[in-house]
Amino acid sequence: MKWDVSFETKCQGMDLGIQDQYHAISFPIYQTATFSRSRLGEESGFDYTRQTNPTRSQLESVVAGLENAEEAVAFSSGMAAVSAVMHLFAPGDHVIMDMDLYGGSVRLFNQVCKKYGIEFSTADCSSEDISAYIRENTKAVYLETPTNPMMHVTDIEKLAELTRSRGVLLIVDNTFLSPYFQNPLDLGADIVIHSGTKYIAGHHDTIGGFVMTNDRDIADKLRLNVTTIGACLSPFDSWLILRGIRTLAVRMDRAESNAIRIAEHLKQSPHVKKVIYPGLKEHPGYDIMKKQARGFGAMITFEVESREFAEKILNNVQLFYFAESLGGTETLITYPITQTHAAVPKELLEKNGINDSLLRLSVGIEGVEDLIGELDRVFSI
Ligand SMILES: *Cc1c(COP(=O)(O)O)cnc(C)c1O
Repeated sequence: MKWDVSFETKCQGMDLGIQDQYHAISFPIYQTATFSRSRLGEESGFDYTRQTNPTRSQLESVVAGLENAEEAVAFSSGMAAVSAVMHLFAPGDHVIMDMDLYGGSVRLFNQVCKKYGIEFSTADCSSEDISAYIRENTKAVYLETPTNPMMHVTDIEKLAELTRSRGVLLIVDNTFLSPYFQNPLDLGADIVIHSGTKYIAGHHDTIGGFVMTNDRDIADKLRLNVTTIGACLSPFDSWLILRGIRTLAVRMDRAESNAIRIAEHLKQSPHVKKVIYPGLKEHPGYDIMKKQARGFGAMITFEVESREFAEKILNNVQLFYFAESLGGTETLITYPITQTHAAVPKELLEKNGINDSLLRLSVGIEGVEDLIGELDRVFSI
């Protein structure tokens, strides 16, 4: 669904044709499993909620609009969305995966997809020549940019030129920047994935996932997948995410401006060895970010002087939460090595530089002075 209005306006979820009879401003929660028919041959357009539900359809239309996609399919989690995309492939197909991905995706590829005969190669899409990895049976390149947690930035447009010319799909997990800051389909990607749990829902209160595409055939296969396998998003979760999206643009702006201040502040600390944030001019991906995204996001990875120092921070934070996940209004601090990336093989962790002194911040929308004060306080304990 392509509307000719601003992103901020699209977030308000205008009337997309699935109007309820009372014209409610807050789209109703159609909490029903099934829909009746008045007679044989007549139907309302909805049969059974695993297949379609008005609240979910409204959400899918809104989310498709945010990514400038013809179609968005909602799933019960980000991982259900990733696995639906993997179901597009068959035994003997080959997929090139970026070396720095969300740990759950790495686990899915290594522990589930390989069992079903899909082959994987691991590459650094931000710096390597990907054409060297393409084989006869290569079907897709799968990446995140910026990556989780090392913030490598891949030039989507440049890679899309290669994948297009070789008949390979380009799949981008766009969770980290949200559609507010980056639209991979506009840059030539074929499929975009979101963990809706993160910025899109935005309040750490529900789990959901989305796949967007402009390819009719792929969209049909994804619909068949959700209907058949059944990892559909519930009406209530669909409604929560619709509600979260209303403030997506303002949340992203505030979280990003907080993140820029915090990244600068961390750089000044003698206890911090390295700050990895693509909004810092010295970040190797800064220029590509400027070209392909409208912002830098609010995820910061930083390395402190020792494992003990990292542990001290995690054990003493009060204003931040020591928790997995990202993209909500509250600031979270994560320890990738034991949390988000616990399922990643040790050699790959080492290769990526994910060590026991590395911390990841999902910067929220609190008062930035409070966040800086909290960092100073835990650093000086
Ligand atoms: C969280 C996350 C996922 C998985 O999403 P869930 O909603 O937790 O299932 C996938 N990709 C990225 C980048 C994530 O951060």
